[in-house]
Parts: sequence; C-alpha cells; structure tokens
Amino acid sequence: RGLAPRKRLVTDADLAGIWVTNPTRRLFGRNGPTKLDIAVYYASVGDFMLPHLFGRPVSLFRCPTGKSADCFFQRHPFTGMPEGIAKVESANGEGEKQTFIAVTNTKGYLALAQFGAVEYHAWGTHLDHIDKPDRIIFDLDPGEGVAWRDVVNAAVHLRGELQALGLAPFVKTSGGKGVHIVVPTTPKLTWKAAHAASASIAAKLAATGPDTFVTVMGAANRKRRIFIDYHRNARSATAVAAYSLRARTHLPASTPIEWNDLESIDSPEDLNYSTLPRLLTMSGDPWADINTFSQDLPA
Ligand code: ATP
Ligand code: MN
Ligand code: MN
Repeated sequence: RGLAPRKRLVTDADLAGIWVTNPTRRLFGRNGPTKLDIAVYYASVGDFMLPHLFGRPVSLFRCPTGKSADCFFQRHPFTGMPEGIAKVESANGEGEKQTFIAVTNTKGYLALAQFGAVEYHAWGTHLDHIDKPDRIIFDLDPGEGVAWRDVVNAAVHLRGELQALGLAPFVKTSGGKGVHIVVPTTPKLTWKAAHAASASIAAKLAATGPDTFVTVMGAANRKRRIFIDYHRNARSATAVAAYSLRARTHLPASTPIEWNDLESIDSPEDLNYSTLPRLLTMSGDPWADINTFSQDLPA
C-alpha cells in the first residue's frame, strides 16, 4: 500500500521480476482490493493453482480499469500478450478453427496481473490432447431460495452417485453461489461423447432427487432447485479454474475442498484473496492428487 506507481513492489523472487503499474488502483469501488492485492494473491497461490491451469486453454476475465462495467472475457490472443502465454489453434464449439490462449509458464502467469486479469476460466483439457477432455465437471447451480447448506447436501449426494459409478470426484466452491464437482478422466472420449456421457450422468443423478435437481436450463425451472449444469463439458466451454478469484468486492476464490471438510464450511465467501493463501500454506492442496487419477466414464 502507498507505493508509488512503477516502483518494484515485492522481491524479484516473489513476483519473478514482474512490474505492476498502478498497484494502488482499487477495483470495484472505494473499499475494493487493489491491483497489487490481486498480483500478490496470484503470486502466493501459484504453486497450488498452476497444476490446474498450465497448458489448458484459458479465458481471462480482465478488469483493466478496475470498474466492473469495464471487465471483459478474453480467450483469444491480445496485443502485448506476455511471453509464457501460448497461442493455441483449435476448433471452437461450432467447429470453426480459432486461436485460443493458454498459460505455459510461471512468468506468463504472473505477468497477467499487469493486464488486469482477475478471473481464470479453463477448458477441461490440456494442449497435449485438446480434442479430448481430461476433466468432466458438474457445475451445481442453485436457483432462487436454495440455501448453501442444501448445495452442500446436493454435492455430497452427487459424490455418492458418482462413486457408485466407480468414479472419484473432487469438489470446489465456485466462488459464487454453487459448487463444482470435477471428475478427472483419461482423455479418451471426444468432446461430443464426453458431453453426451455427462448429460446422461446428470439425468441419472437428477432422477435420484427429482425434488432437488433439474437438468433443464432456465431460471423458472430452477426455483428452489439445483440445476446440474453439464454444459461446461462442451468443446470450448470453460469453468472457473481452481484457486481463481472472482471479480467482486471481496474477491472470493474458487476453492478446492476436502470432501470431509465440505460440511463444515458455512460461508464460502470467506474463502477469498486475503484468507486463502495462509489456509493453503497450513493445510496444503486438497486437489494435490487430481492429476494422478486416470478413470474412464462409464459407457
Ligand atoms: P455460480 O456458483 O454462481 O454458478 P459459476 O462460476 O459456476 O458460479 P456459472 O454461471 O454457473 O457461474 O458458470 C458459467 C461459466 O461459463 C463461467 O464460469 C465461465 O467459465 C463461462 N462464461 C460465462 N459467461 C461467459 C462469457 N461471456 N464468455 C466466456 N465464458 C463465459
Ligand atoms: Mn455454476
Ligand atoms: Mn452454470
């Protein structure tokens, strides 16, 4: 705080020599966090976040002026793009060839703070096998009138159903109202096949709790129910990455949680840019194993 613009802010070791201009600029109003807060957060959680981000096509939510109204999603190359952000040629969901971007080294990741990157959204795949997803996600979207406690219960229920299918799911808060249940998979199925498989799993799950779950989009269907959003598994769709912040005043983070700890979380918004780095240093990454799992979706 109080540092002059263009002054080197933290040690070279901490930020790998990245310069951050306008470090004291506040985001999202007078009581919001500063650009430096965000840079320091990402520098301190890098070891935890990067295994879930490196080499995955990414969509950045950038807020270069600090005003919410000026934030935008960026998933294609941009002017002045730092080294360490790679260009990725691939088809989008409609089959058109496009150029996407991916973070491929630490320096690129840290440099993005200077570009106002607040949120990181990633594809459920990796450059090595971009036509085939390696993470399937069930994005639980609570409708109006659903309490956090009910979201937790739903997540635990889905976990049981996925385990019954022989799958080991992982859970994280979204940083918003819901949770994300992630199943790491061997990249064997195409996007189309994986999306279809996730649709039938979601339908099966919904059938086990028809009063709780819906699989049809639209707010009206969701009232007091939870939408199992499986459309994050379509080609070029993204979901917020593990440990990404969300662009609101207190910067809540999408936080991986041990299943055993999920029920003890009362307010997920308390997991944020100021609390998470210390918690992580104390208890480690609940998703440390996720990249070692190789499991197939049931036929
Ligand atoms: P919540 O728990 O509140 O639902 P969430 O992150 O899961 O939080 P959703 O609305 O369920 O929010 O997810 C939508 C996802 O779709 C986002 O995480 C993002 O990755 C993607 N997305 C949304 N809007 C855009 C957009 N304009 N451009 C690109 N991707 C988008
Ligand atoms: Mn959601
Ligand atoms: Mn959703």
